[in-house]
Amino acid sequence: MGIQYCKKCLNVSTRPNIKFTEDGICPPCRFFETNYKAEPEVILEKLKETKAFAAKHNHSGYDCIVGVSGGKDSTRQALYVKEKFGLKPLLVSMNYPPEQISSNGVNNLSNLISMGFDCINISCSPQTWKKAMRHAFIHFGNWAKATEYALFASVPRVAVAYQIPLIWWGENAAAVLGEMGVLGKDLSDGNRIKYGNTLQGGNFKWLLDIGIEKRQILQFIYPSDEEMDKAELRIIFLDFFMKEFSLTTNGNFSLLRGLHTKKPNPLINPDLTGTSMVDEDFININMMLRYLKFGFGRTSDLMNEEIRYGRISREEAIEIVSKYDGNFDIEILKRFCNYIEIRISEFWEIADTYVNKELFERIAEGVYKPKFNVGVGL
Ligand SMILES: [Zn+2]
Repeated sequence: MGIQYCKKCLNVSTRPNIKFTEDGICPPCRFFETNYKAEPEVILEKLKETKAFAAKHNHSGYDCIVGVSGGKDSTRQALYVKEKFGLKPLLVSMNYPPEQISSNGVNNLSNLISMGFDCINISCSPQTWKKAMRHAFIHFGNWAKATEYALFASVPRVAVAYQIPLIWWGENAAAVLGEMGVLGKDLSDGNRIKYGNTLQGGNFKWLLDIGIEKRQILQFIYPSDEEMDKAELRIIFLDFFMKEFSLTTNGNFSLLRGLHTKKPNPLINPDLTGTSMVDEDFININMMLRYLKFGFGRTSDLMNEEIRYGRISREEAIEIVSKYDGNFDIEILKRFCNYIEIRISEFWEIADTYVNKELFERIAEGVYKPKFNVGVGL
């Protein structure tokens, strides 16, 4: 198995639900070069049809819903839908609990709402939230599985309840990351978003298995296909309509509109610019776990886009990814362990069971050396 790299960027064969072409190109690079951006007439036609759908179903005064957090993508998405499309969106935000949300996240959400949006904020019980996160870390090596369920499911849930069937979602993970599970009938179609690796079709049995009752996790439960059909839900990827929806562009756009960010420090934060993943801090630990499981971290995500847009060469990116991809912040790790109530030694014991031993050699507790070379493979 090992790890193979896309010949054009640094995407890896170990990413869940990815399949390279026979000549070793990853799906995002293939989309980017071929049919990723449809012809302008096709895009315009799709937009016209989508707006007509919104108008037909506007019973509430809102044309559509945009799911937001306290980050750069939300700011760009909400403003794009409002200003470029001339639609009136209702924003829906699933809030992190007080112990997890960062001051940047709070400030950014306030900043966004203050631009003139109505927003529904949803909060789940912090106890349930924490229990689900702890369990997801221990049993899947991915604490964010729990929070992603809530972040993803709460938006269509509100859409069903408020009868606002059009939802704009940011990026198509099939086109941008190579997560082919979400691929719909075309690249604007997001109705299969729950079939990605993390949400597994919205199967929430694992939450019930740990003694959480169904009535406690309404917001974690993605509407079923039947519910979605009945509500005529339509999830549309916004990036289909945009010239560029990259980490860098969204970061710059939102910075100019008041986004609060982190001070870049790649030695402890592999998100080099500090402009993404700002609404909470624990993601830093999740990225490190992902790196140890699959051999790619946050720097890779960033660099792959930069390579495709021609802003950096593959060789330069290899150097950067090799230096920073697996970095993490020990202080955040301490806070995370404190939050889910485990000792740091326990954290590493559990994490070690998820580390891909084919790709990494264990040097000491919490210290792993990659056996692969970035860009070359193993
Ligand atoms: Zn590629």
